[in-house]
Amino acid sequence: MNRTKKLWKPFCQVAHRALPSTSRFKLSNYNYNFATQIYFLDCTSSSRIQNPSLYRGLCYYFENLKFSGRSFCSESAEKASNATCWNCNEAPKAAPFLFCESCRSVQPVDHSVDYFQIFGLGKKYEIGNEKLEGKYKDWQKRIHPDLVHSKSEKEREYAAEQSGRVIEAYRTLTNPLARAIYILRLEGVEVNEEETVSEPELLMEIMEIREAVEDAADSQTLKEIQSQMQEKLIHWGNSFANAYQNRNFDEARVCIRRMTYYHRVNEEIAKKL
Ligand SMILES: [Zn+2]
Repeated sequence: MNRTKKLWKPFCQVAHRALPSTSRFKLSNYNYNFATQIYFLDCTSSSRIQNPSLYRGLCYYFENLKFSGRSFCSESAEKASNATCWNCNEAPKAAPFLFCESCRSVQPVDHSVDYFQIFGLGKKYEIGNEKLEGKYKDWQKRIHPDLVHSKSEKEREYAAEQSGRVIEAYRTLTNPLARAIYILRLEGVEVNEEETVSEPELLMEIMEIREAVEDAADSQTLKEIQSQMQEKLIHWGNSFANAYQNRNFDEARVCIRRMTYYHRVNEEIAKKL
């Protein structure tokens, strides 16, 4: 048991690494969820956020959380009234309304807009990643906090929140596992990632994989295991998509649990490579 436990990396450890030392935030249950997403998404970059723009945006986001005391639990309660622009009172020209095209001011976050809507997508598990990057850059050209540094404190706060949320949305949707967990959450189905595995077959499989990773003599062997994990992730991602489409949420959770395990193996491998 202990051997498999080694696969788990504390989420806060990763989150702290991803953030500046001056941002000594505490992981509440809610930003824990966000930290979890960072954890999931960082596997390909060796647990480090390497894109400076993403990094800066996350810092703004967490700094803002720290000072405003806001948390994700207040999402619905905090729903902004986005019927018209707070600055010029014009009606939005397009949805979602993150930015006013008339006066070019950043709008307050409307938490009723989900991540799929931010990217102009329907609530569907399977997406083409190529569409996301362009849209992500478009948003950041409009709402990035650096663009409003000379504006009012209120708008700077909006920009920090909007930008952070777009980053969070982008990172969630581009990661198959985080996306699966998120789309289930939109259905009101929570996934407990720390849930103990009751399937002996899966446990045995993971222990064997873990041993293979530990015993791997060279990077070639590790890469082979990694590509096997990738195949498994694709397979279970497809199973998840089917289960979700059929609204079989129990099955969808089983798929997520599998994906979580394989993902963590890949995390371990990435550290060794
Ligand atoms: Zn306006």
